[in-house]
Amino acid sequence: MKEESYKIGGMHCAACSSAVERVTRKLEGVERSDVNLPLNRMTIVYDESRLSPDKIISKIEKAGFTAELINGDGSISQRKTDDSSDKALISERRELVVACILSVILLYVSMGSMMVSHLPLPEILSMHSHPVNFAMFQMLLSVPIMFIGRRFFIGGFRSLINKNPNMDALVAVSCTASFLFSVVTTFQLSDNPGKVHSLYYESAAIVITLVLLGKHLESNSKEKTKSAIVKLMELTPDTAILIRDNRQWEVPTETLKVGDIVLVKPGAKIPLDGIVKSGEGSVNEAMLTGESMPVEKAAGSEVIGGSINVSGALYVEITRIGQDTTLSKIIKFVEDAQNKKAPISKVADKVAGIFVPIVIAVALLSAAVWLAAGESFAFALKIFTSVLVIACPCAMGLATPTAIIVGTGLGASHGILIRSGEALETTHKTNVVVLDKTGTVTEGKPRVTEIVSDILSDSELIDIAFAAESLSEHPLAKAIADEANSRGFLNEKAIASFENVPGMGIKAFTKEGQPLCVGNIRLMESEGISTEKYASDISRLAGHGQTPMLVAFNGILCGVIGVADTVKDTSKEAVEKLRAMGIKTVLLTGDNRAAASYIGGIIGTDDVIAEVLPGDKAAVIEKLQQDGSTVMMVGDGINDAPALAMADIGCAIGSGSDIAIESADIVLMKNNLTDVAGAIKLSRLTIRNIKQNLFWAFCYNTLGIPIAAGVLYPKFGLLLSPMIGALAMSLSSVFVVTNALRLRGKKI
Ligand code: ADP
Ligand code: MG
Repeated sequence: MKEESYKIGGMHCAACSSAVERVTRKLEGVERSDVNLPLNRMTIVYDESRLSPDKIISKIEKAGFTAELINGDGSISQRKTDDSSDKALISERRELVVACILSVILLYVSMGSMMVSHLPLPEILSMHSHPVNFAMFQMLLSVPIMFIGRRFFIGGFRSLINKNPNMDALVAVSCTASFLFSVVTTFQLSDNPGKVHSLYYESAAIVITLVLLGKHLESNSKEKTKSAIVKLMELTPDTAILIRDNRQWEVPTETLKVGDIVLVKPGAKIPLDGIVKSGEGSVNEAMLTGESMPVEKAAGSEVIGGSINVSGALYVEITRIGQDTTLSKIIKFVEDAQNKKAPISKVADKVAGIFVPIVIAVALLSAAVWLAAGESFAFALKIFTSVLVIACPCAMGLATPTAIIVGTGLGASHGILIRSGEALETTHKTNVVVLDKTGTVTEGKPRVTEIVSDILSDSELIDIAFAAESLSEHPLAKAIADEANSRGFLNEKAIASFENVPGMGIKAFTKEGQPLCVGNIRLMESEGISTEKYASDISRLAGHGQTPMLVAFNGILCGVIGVADTVKDTSKEAVEKLRAMGIKTVLLTGDNRAAASYIGGIIGTDDVIAEVLPGDKAAVIEKLQQDGSTVMMVGDGINDAPALAMADIGCAIGSGSDIAIESADIVLMKNNLTDVAGAIKLSRLTIRNIKQNLFWAFCYNTLGIPIAAGVLYPKFGLLLSPMIGALAMSLSSVFVVTNALRLRGKKI
């Protein structure tokens, strides 16, 4: 299976994007294909042994669109250059101005003479004395406008021929009908001057102008929805100062290689991820992690490409380039999220896909009904064209993707990365948040605080424990190693074999064959070692939230080492925020019950589940789900990956550059639990925005179509002119995009 992205050209509405989806999904070997309308992009997953890009492209072209494979390394410099939308917008604007000027003149000529107090018009164009001139002049004005809007006719009729009618087809059919009718009328004028009232040039031309105007406003705003990604892309500086042969060279950032040393002066941006070799300074990482305080950096510190060196000069060795950099990964993450559809959009997509043929049928039917009721052909035509124009499902197609683009972008600017539209949607349903203890609620940097032993000195006990723990990667092992290092010990114990027992501790044998165990009570019990002698010390340490590490040598318990981890400053506030949002919190840990309850008490979680073996954490999540909850699991990904995957939403809490992206639906860049509440709030806001958009779009269409069809005419004499229909349609899309943009200003 292979995943590829294509740039799709020629899409104007949801009917277009669903047509592209439909034809590609029908191809043999395609597993999934999603089209993002605002981004003009298709993501497709297919079996490469049965299908090739050429076939995909030719299929899409047959349906009346263009397709281009987006390949390359996905690096930022490459993507910066492949956006041509700016130029397109400018030429669009120029044509639009011409169309508007012509339309105003046309409107003046055609409507002016119908007003109560006639607007001044040269005698030669008078509708009464020179009806043919009056009509011909309007035809001359409307032809160039229709030429400017030729893409509607080309795209529309092509889509009709391909049996995938889109919104262009609606506009094209409607305007062609008005225009042709008017041309026929014009030729009849010399025989029958009374027909001068049945000219509809202005209707055809102004519908085109209004739709063009609406599309233009829409694409302007759509550009704005992408601003979060554009801002991220602009973080990488174009050039960097490379240090080579003791000299400074200014070089383009993309030419830097791993291992190069660059100089970052105060006020300059760090070009790529790296490690500080020398120099000191404080760096602002706000745009990447959302962390507003500058971070102090000195030799050995990691720095992230795109962050700003506020003060001090830094010599940085580059460690990651191209698509491996943190910034590239963030951008890829956000883009992927925007390309993957939220389930909530499925209904709208389905409706949009079958909408156009239905609307054409409704338009024909209502015109026929009015004809049968004895109305004139001109009246029926007006109904027909109004229904076609007002019914376009543009707003429906934009409702979900624009809100998701803005929502995920807003999250990214706060250091909250969301994997997909689906994850964003599920998140708002969360009612239980499970927090892993070590590294999530606590700093994850435990320290030795107490050493208890009857038979050995403190140093001797640490020394023995260190022998076993020096081979383990567990944070508790690091605490012992730190303590041993500070006492100046080197690890020279002869360990012959070593076994890591998850959730319990370490079992090792010395070269002489003596067993050495370090771990919790459970480990000692499984080894048949009595813990009675230290029972009171163990419970005292645990009661203060510390982890008692029991050290047994040769089958005898010879002491206990108390290890404590500090609770993050923000953990309590985070739990309070979640409670205020009506969400239950659970602390989950493999640590002993007493220590876990102590920490749970400090931060105020609703529940504490302790002494869970790493392999059983996922089962605990499953149990909570069976009780009907939507569960979010928050962990650092160190030994909770299965639980993250099992939860409805897996939320990985990382710190800056080393983000554990793989198994998580949400990644928090800041090492700060309050962002969990932020992510849920973001999701709630975005989903509410989508619902507003969909409600508006559906309402507009279900109300607009009957009015356009003339339902209100018999009783109230109310009829929509096609021009009002075009205005309403354009405004509805603009409204939806603007509503989505409102999300940008929200606080999360
Ligand atoms: P957490 O759920 O907090 O991430 P773990 O599941 O990794 O914790 O470990 C649970 C318990 O197992 C620890 O509190 C400790 O008592 C014991 N343990 C695990 N690994 C070790 C080790 N390397 N040395 C000593 N004890 C350990
Ligand atoms: Mg852990």
